Amino acid sequence: MNSELISPTSRPAKDGWHEIRVRIAPSPTGPVHLGNIHTALFNWLFARKYGGKFILRFEDTDLERSDRKWEELIYKEMRWLGLDWDEGPDVGGPYAPYRQTERLEIYRQYAERLREQGDVYYCYCSPEELEAERKAAEQSGTVYKYSRRCLHLTDTERKAKEEELRAAGRRPVLRFRVPEGVTLAWDDLIRGRIETASDTISDFVIMRGNGIPLYNFAVVVDDITMKISHVIRGEGHISNTPMQLLVYRALGERPPALGHIGHILGTDGKKLSKRNGDAYVGDYRDRGFLPEALFNFLALLGWTPPDGQEILSREAIIEAFELERVGKSPAIFDLEKLEWMNGVYLRSLDREELVRRALPYLQRAGLVGEPGELTAAQREQIGRVVGLYQERIKTLAEIGPATEYFFRDEIEYDAKAVQKVLKAASRPHLEAVVARLEHLGAEEWRVETLERELDGYVAEQGLRRLEVFQPIRVAVTGRTASPPLFDTLAVLGREKVLRRLRYALDHLVPG
Ligand code: GLU
Repeated sequence: MNSELISPTSRPAKDGWHEIRVRIAPSPTGPVHLGNIHTALFNWLFARKYGGKFILRFEDTDLERSDRKWEELIYKEMRWLGLDWDEGPDVGGPYAPYRQTERLEIYRQYAERLREQGDVYYCYCSPEELEAERKAAEQSGTVYKYSRRCLHLTDTERKAKEEELRAAGRRPVLRFRVPEGVTLAWDDLIRGRIETASDTISDFVIMRGNGIPLYNFAVVVDDITMKISHVIRGEGHISNTPMQLLVYRALGERPPALGHIGHILGTDGKKLSKRNGDAYVGDYRDRGFLPEALFNFLALLGWTPPDGQEILSREAIIEAFELERVGKSPAIFDLEKLEWMNGVYLRSLDREELVRRALPYLQRAGLVGEPGELTAAQREQIGRVVGLYQERIKTLAEIGPATEYFFRDEIEYDAKAVQKVLKAASRPHLEAVVARLEHLGAEEWRVETLERELDGYVAEQGLRRLEVFQPIRVAVTGRTASPPLFDTLAVLGREKVLRRLRYALDHLVPG
């Protein structure tokens, strides 16, 4: 038996190894799935670690579903995560073009070479004929393999078929003639040795009649012509690899090193969905995750840093990244862990940066105007508000609902809180508080003076803080929970606080 085995190790040798060139090749047929971005990240890390090139190209041969808008979205999501590419349709590169539909002539030439060598042949079978073969195999319980009916046509039969097709306005496809008795094997960078007998593989189509190549052929031509050194992709492609090895073999080319990383599953063991964690990068942005947190989190999906540390900077991840430490089992996407991580990153932002990140979410919630139109004073006030919540939120999307009572003139009151806390008994306290606070001018309105006044009142009356503070909190925030009261009052400001206390006395407190 003939064994096909070509796989350098994942760790490029210090010398003697050619340039590291890795790629992702998404199909721009819809929003980028998180799995693709995860694959992109691992390729990017590998390239950056070893000083190689990271290439972005598009498999846009599905003419009906491919759309430039999905390409744009891929750019956007990659940029947001900080995954830059060295070659691609937008930036060009030495092996352009980087879209399959712009490379049809290249595929045609390779296909022609294979045809001259006798490795591919024309197939005239109609979809109905192929379907009948497939049904027959199913009924007899055997694995379907194309009958090779068109491989064995006589010249006369071939001519007749060609006529028939031409009359129907169709052209034959090109099928790969799979050799018998060959073991197709590779040392997967992540899974170790994988072998398939060529006898299990049906002659597969490499090109449609209209000259559009199929994936297993086009991807090989692209990887050869773009000098790709390592293919790192999802485990879903393991079953395609033997066919690709056949194409390399027929073209007399050495395949790149191949590694297949595990899928990402939700905590329920199922594919990602709205319920167990969204499947698209944009969803995480909308939900207020920071790109650096998602980057860190995705890097740890399937890869374990040597010291087990979880919060790692981009630089530290690049430094520590090794394919040897990438696991082959599916990685579980734990949304709670991502939230925790995001909280850690949020807390590490300085005030300026926190404001900058929070503004789009506050704007989306209708609480502030265009970031470019804010005055310095408004920005300052926003900084004080979001600062109060920096320790309390896990995502930026929480910032709007959490802080709206600082921005709105009219607030919403939690009816239960009002009923439970704003009782007749709290009236004298609130009246006394209004009287004391009225004496504080706007320029004296600070945590220390508020504390002096309110604690002074509590002490004079021999009360417990809660008896006085909780009614104040509900009256000015509408809720029973808020950041520490003095801070909240200080940031809300004199005018809002007094107005809300008076409103509560006039409309909410009985008696
Ligand atoms: N379009 C394929 C995908 O995104 C490319 C697979 C490959 O990397 O070979 O899954």
